[in-house]
Amino acid sequence: MLPSTRIRNLTGAGDDGWGLFYRARAMKAAGEPVLELTIGEHDIRTDPRILDAMEASARAGHTGYAIVPGIPALRDAVAARLAERTGVPTKRDNVLITPGGQAALFAAHHAACDDGDRALYIDPYYATYPGTIRAVGAVAVPVAARPEDGFQPRKEALMAAAKGARSLLVNSPNNPTGVVYSEETIRGIAQAAEAHDLWLISDEVYDTQVWDGTHLSPRALPGMADRTLLVGSLSKSHAMTGSRLGWVAGPEEMVGHLITLATHTTYGVPGYIQEAGLHALSLGPEFEAEIGAPFRRRRDMLAKLLAGQQVIRAAPAAGAMYAMLDIRATGLSGKEFAGRLLDAERIAVMPGESFGQAGAGHIRVALTLPDDAFAEAATRLVRFAGDLASAAVAG
Ligand code: PMP
Repeated sequence: MLPSTRIRNLTGAGDDGWGLFYRARAMKAAGEPVLELTIGEHDIRTDPRILDAMEASARAGHTGYAIVPGIPALRDAVAARLAERTGVPTKRDNVLITPGGQAALFAAHHAACDDGDRALYIDPYYATYPGTIRAVGAVAVPVAARPEDGFQPRKEALMAAAKGARSLLVNSPNNPTGVVYSEETIRGIAQAAEAHDLWLISDEVYDTQVWDGTHLSPRALPGMADRTLLVGSLSKSHAMTGSRLGWVAGPEEMVGHLITLATHTTYGVPGYIQEAGLHALSLGPEFEAEIGAPFRRRRDMLAKLLAGQQVIRAAPAAGAMYAMLDIRATGLSGKEFAGRLLDAERIAVMPGESFGQAGAGHIRVALTLPDDAFAEAATRLVRFAGDLASAAVAG
């Protein structure tokens, strides 16, 4: 019996560089001291106050089916948060609570695209994007954001691709580049969506982690709330990756359809997780700043190290938990560099190519090791690149 074409085509061909990640994990399991700069996950665990709220809720009996759209208090809290951040009046009925941002991305594309529709996304991209689009039967079409533009997608490129497309998926602050889109970029995105009548799916799961500039949601621009599906999550902002708690917000009618979809897929999110999320939000912006602070600190540590050399050039990392490093001066591809770095230095980074063609010749460094280990890994990485470049010149 053959599985469906849709499920068989969900991921692309090849290992996309994730082979390196699994090789690093295998080396670690065999007892080798590998420093991992691969995964977008905090080096701390969920705060005990949030766990206490989770336990109290579960013990109070909130372990049955929760209402599918999300508990009213959490939908209200998310709506108030989005109203404050985007200036757009937002009510409970504009919000669906989902098991994480990933489920929200799937639901948004399912609701926006018909079979065979062209669904745009920006390359370099977060690993699941093309598969999520293919999973709903749409055709995933990348739009390159080029390193020479600081990985900001150009309006002309968006306009050209948008013709005949159905949706556009954007992500700022960005994974994998750490880049925060400028107001000009966000305006270009909105104009392309309006000019070609696209649904805009805006993945803002890193919106509390902005180190330079400010986060501007495209939903905040005039007229955009009617065509924007905003994806959010507590995974990154509150170090709650394992709790699987996120949302999608949009026009009320669309959210109505998304609730119907949830009834037939996830059937909601556990009530005790939602109450923990509500408590997490009540801890306020100071708590969110605390969760993000280590990434900012390590971004600065890395910038200092890179200032003393000429080989590696860094994309302007202004947010999220990553730095995208241009290693083309070593003469290697991102994949070759990452492979050799793992063998020679026992340091694991992600090849830029695993995030799309526009990431070629780069590596992504996750800022997710404790400061001392991060400093050691970054120092050795920079030295390794320098040695490679000298050898390339000498050879
Ligand atoms: N979007 C981006 C850009 C991400 O990096 C991630 C997780 N790494 C997600 C969405 C999904 O996050 P979650 O499902 O944990 O909310």
